[in-house]
Amino acid sequence: MKITKVSARVYEWTGPVVHIHANFCTTAGDILTRTPSSIGAYSFLGWLVVEIETDTGLIGIGNAALSPHVTKAVIEHHLAPILIGENPLDIAYLWERMYRQTMPFGRKGSGMAAISAIDLALWDILGKQANLPVFRLLGGALRDKIPVYASRLYAQPLDTLAAEADAYRQQGFSMMKLRFGWGPKDGLEGIQRNLDLVRTVRETVGDSVEIMADAYMGWTLDYAKRMLPQLAPYNLRWLEEPLIADDIAGYAELRALNIIPISGGEHEFTLRGFRDVIEHHAMDIIQFDINRVGGISQAQKIVALAEAFNIAVIPHAGQMHNYHVVMANIACPMAEYFPKVPVEVGNELFWYIFDGEPVAENGYVSLPEDRPGLGLTINPDLSSQFRIT
Ligand SMILES: [Mg+2]
Repeated sequence: MKITKVSARVYEWTGPVVHIHANFCTTAGDILTRTPSSIGAYSFLGWLVVEIETDTGLIGIGNAALSPHVTKAVIEHHLAPILIGENPLDIAYLWERMYRQTMPFGRKGSGMAAISAIDLALWDILGKQANLPVFRLLGGALRDKIPVYASRLYAQPLDTLAAEADAYRQQGFSMMKLRFGWGPKDGLEGIQRNLDLVRTVRETVGDSVEIMADAYMGWTLDYAKRMLPQLAPYNLRWLEEPLIADDIAGYAELRALNIIPISGGEHEFTLRGFRDVIEHHAMDIIQFDINRVGGISQAQKIVALAEAFNIAVIPHAGQMHNYHVVMANIACPMAEYFPKVPVEVGNELFWYIFDGEPVAENGYVSLPEDRPGLGLTINPDLSSQFRIT
């Protein structure tokens, strides 16, 4: 089998977008006093989809988010020339060639997102060639279905926050994650508002529902150290991304306090990136996203390393590419789940672009046996809602 064509396209949402209010969610930029607090600068209303065509007619589909135009350029200028004419089933070889050839500018960020998208498409081809879903190629079903947690609950007035949390409980979710809205420059009042969010969700769902909370890199070490003891009474399952992704030593310091489990890693990359995380005892829970971390090829290696160190891997975002790895690995006890909502920050765009994403039922997702590869197809009628370039 030979690769004959690599097509990378950016799908930009052109339909209505729900307005995001101030203090919707903290971000890494919030600490800058000259910048207003807003996740608006972090919203991403585009998605990268790559299709790899072969001389047998099989087509593999991969995707990446966050910086689709840059990712597309990396694929077109640097990765496609490596791939054309090669056997798509030589995934390990092609991964190393892409990684080593982009080393001077790749490694992390958009360069690795591009490699990840290609790797997903190659695994999709492998599954289609074998006529098996990808999780079967990774070891098969370790569990009947995957427990998922509802992931939204952005900062908002407490009455609507409570209603949203209650709705997830009624839908059968026994785990859910909220977002903090305030950080270091919001002072003591912001601390109280953050605590109000967590207390409201805890009081709404009771003590038998797991609650997690995400700061999306919007805090500092000092601020997180102040917050942790005040959050302790609410029995959080984990505190997510309190610090910027590069502050591994800071994560280690928070984890050593042993007050609330510390999670992160959705902005970390490759086996070697997570070697550093694990070596520093920086996280209780690793949350890579397979369409950034280096694809399924790297994810499997990281999961094995994490398993050996008793660290759970609960990938960012859910989505098919993550579910296949979760399905086949004992180190992955659950998955994230973004409910489908009207388009807002961009997290939800995959629901509109692809057909085949599993819908949660009673807090679980199941993976179909009858869809070979990753199990996704591109929605055939996107032109009215997306600009495709
Ligand atoms: Mg997160």
